[in-house]
Amino acid sequence: MQNWDAMNDDDFRMEVRRFIEQNYPEDLRFLAHRPRFNVIKPWLMLLVEKGWSAPHWPLQYGGMGLSPRKLLIFMDEQGRWGVARQFLGESGTVQLGPMLIRFGTEEQRQTLLPKIRTYETIWCQGYSEPNAGSDLASLTTEAVIDGDDFVINGRKIWTSSALDATHMYLLARTDKQAKKQQGISFLLVDLATPGITIRGIKNIAGTTDYCEVTLDNVRTPRHNIVGGLNQGWTVSRSLMGFERINTGSPRRAEFAFKRLEALARERGLFKDAGFLDRYTQLGLDLADLKAVYMYFADMVSRGETLGPDLSVLQILSSETNQRITEFMLEASGDLGLTVSAGEDDNEGVDALTPFLVMRAVTIGAGTAEIHRNIIAKRILNLPA
Ligand SMILES: Cc1cc2nc3c(=O)[nH]c(=O)nc-3n(C[C@H](O)[C@H](O)[C@H](O)COP(=O)(O)OP(=O)(O)OC[C@H]3O[C@@H](n4cnc5c(N)ncnc54)[C@H](O)[C@@H]3O)c2cc1C
Repeated sequence: MQNWDAMNDDDFRMEVRRFIEQNYPEDLRFLAHRPRFNVIKPWLMLLVEKGWSAPHWPLQYGGMGLSPRKLLIFMDEQGRWGVARQFLGESGTVQLGPMLIRFGTEEQRQTLLPKIRTYETIWCQGYSEPNAGSDLASLTTEAVIDGDDFVINGRKIWTSSALDATHMYLLARTDKQAKKQQGISFLLVDLATPGITIRGIKNIAGTTDYCEVTLDNVRTPRHNIVGGLNQGWTVSRSLMGFERINTGSPRRAEFAFKRLEALARERGLFKDAGFLDRYTQLGLDLADLKAVYMYFADMVSRGETLGPDLSVLQILSSETNQRITEFMLEASGDLGLTVSAGEDDNEGVDALTPFLVMRAVTIGAGTAEIHRNIIAKRILNLPA
């Protein structure tokens, strides 16, 4: 078993870079949208074969056992090359796996982790509901104990990749009398169970990235609870630093900025003082984003816990991405009316698709307004 952490940082970076550059499919680089499983599967299988599908899991569970420092290098190299970050299955390897390692029973770890790591099971996250998004603790999906099972009723929405997933981890109310956060449990459900209906939702960019999932008297065995009865809030909030910092990486904005530059050269826009002014401003925004990202990345590397100020990075990252793609659409003139050929096709990538796709980034990982609330209340101590 390789001890990656004993390796020098630069050597490790080069080893990861070589593998990615030699093996990651050229036509899947910097995809604007989330790829379907059948498209990304060959790459995922290569990662499994190499033993790299769960870089942050401990060695004993088949991970690479990387320290936060090495993991940041691993993620940065993926971002640099435009590896599809939010590939299907990430909910399993990035989110559920670490939660099971921390809160699961030994039996859950032994039976579930190997299948997550090899993509034999593919997981989606069932948290949001039609009336519980930012205020997630208001969720009303209910799970009632009946013999050896929980019986679940409710409706989940915006469930990414549910059409390709085999299983779902979800939050359900198991005690209606308790305070909002305290009556919630974290349950695991096989999506083949009778009573589950999955409906794809087409987004503004024309792809079906997320779904509505209805649960009608769905039974899941009682042992499919993680972290104990009514402990779901704690389990779901337990993501570690690097998972939360992941969405703030500047790599995607860097790529968009490079494409803006190429477009400007092609259309002779650098002669236009108005264009140059906004282009320079965006370049400075990008430099700010990189500096703030490095500040948090250094904290993660030192093993420090990230605090509420991480919201600054989330806002800066999502809004810089939006501003760059918005300006690219404006700068592309009538070229901006072209849409790429299809869901799994990176050919002829256009200015319109990234612009449309980026509408979601100020919603998905906590809305921009909620992050501003966090900064106002928890950092600036402003009155509620
Ligand atoms: C691309 C994408 C993928 C997603 N994938 C998943 C997934 O896999 N699983 C899952 O469970 N969920 C997923 N979600 C859902 C996501 O978690 C929610 O969209 C998010 O939490 C916001 O909730 P909401 O959509 O209900 O909006 P709401 O919470 O209803 O907010 C509506 C508007 O009101 C504002 N607002 C709300 N509360 C306040 C407040 N207190 N102060 C100021 N403004 C406020 C918001 O900022 C927003 O502008 C995904 C979302 C996106 C965009």
